Amino acid sequence: MTNIAFIGLGNMGGPMAANLVKAGHSVKAFDLVQASKDAAAEMGVGIAGSAKEAVAEAEVVVTMLPAGKHVLAVWADILPTVKPGTVLIDSSTIDVESARKAHALAGERGCLSLDAPVSGGTGGAKGATLTFMVGGTEDAFAKGQPILAKMGRKIVHCGGAGNGQAAKICNNMILGISMIGVSEAFVLGEKLGLSHQALFDVASTSSGQCWSLTTYCPVPGPVPTSPANNEYKPGFASALMLKDLKLSQEAAQAAGASTPLGAAAAQLFGLHNAWGEGGTDFSGIIHLLRGRGEA
Ligand code: NAD
Repeated sequence: MTNIAFIGLGNMGGPMAANLVKAGHSVKAFDLVQASKDAAAEMGVGIAGSAKEAVAEAEVVVTMLPAGKHVLAVWADILPTVKPGTVLIDSSTIDVESARKAHALAGERGCLSLDAPVSGGTGGAKGATLTFMVGGTEDAFAKGQPILAKMGRKIVHCGGAGNGQAAKICNNMILGISMIGVSEAFVLGEKLGLSHQALFDVASTSSGQCWSLTTYCPVPGPVPTSPANNEYKPGFASALMLKDLKLSQEAAQAAGASTPLGAAAAQLFGLHNAWGEGGTDFSGIIHLLRGRGEA
């Protein structure tokens, strides 16, 4: 049994903390929102009065927060209370620069640290089937891996500090771009009189094959489990896709990488969100490409 502190009990953090309890760990958690604390408490998570109180006896600290500024503020707040040698794991999706700053803060306190963003969404958080993309030293990874394994199915060590976040935004940039590409093909097929099923049958077994087509098909029918069959209910919300695409563009600018399709994808998802679609699944971008107003 490990003493774990968990800060950030939202849609993802709440069920992740509950899975650590189910695995037999002692979890003390904190969130700013009472409803999130109540929901976590119902799942057996111990609730502390503050983030500092949560971490006081912790051997491992996990944070699951909205953005880089929240992670840096929470880590700066708790680190003076955290015991040297503690392993800090941030599983939020944040910018690479803030992730590397967080690692540096932990290092100053004599703590080990990992950036460990996830894919798999709320379903993966509940079912403990998340994929973790992890950045940090070998030593930190060796200590953090058994904890992550209780919340996820696949844990990939991507290299040093910040490389987990780098892997996450590169992957999601591919995803955003490929979903737009697949959607464009269906829209063109419609105009050319091609049925959705015929295009799917060809492209899914040809060189157009990709996850956005075969698992997450943006039109109803060919893949019965895709959100398109459920009125584009998430799924993976368009607002989160836009967040990740923006992070990819910030990183590309800082690193001097040329990502013109990533930039175009960010623009298109920005428009889609501005039309009030931030809460629907990102595969609904096909509506924007058809022209709004058309089914
Ligand atoms: P959420 O908004 O539901 O949860 C964030 C929680 O952090 C909230 O409950 C909020 O009250 C809490 N919080 C904020 N500041 C705090 C502070 N100073 N102290 C304590 N608690 C604080 O968000 P989420 O959907 O759980 O996502 C969390 C992270 O995971 C984000 O970075 C998101 O991009 C990433 N992510 C989300 C999904 C998803 O499907 N929801 C998938 C992959 C990655």
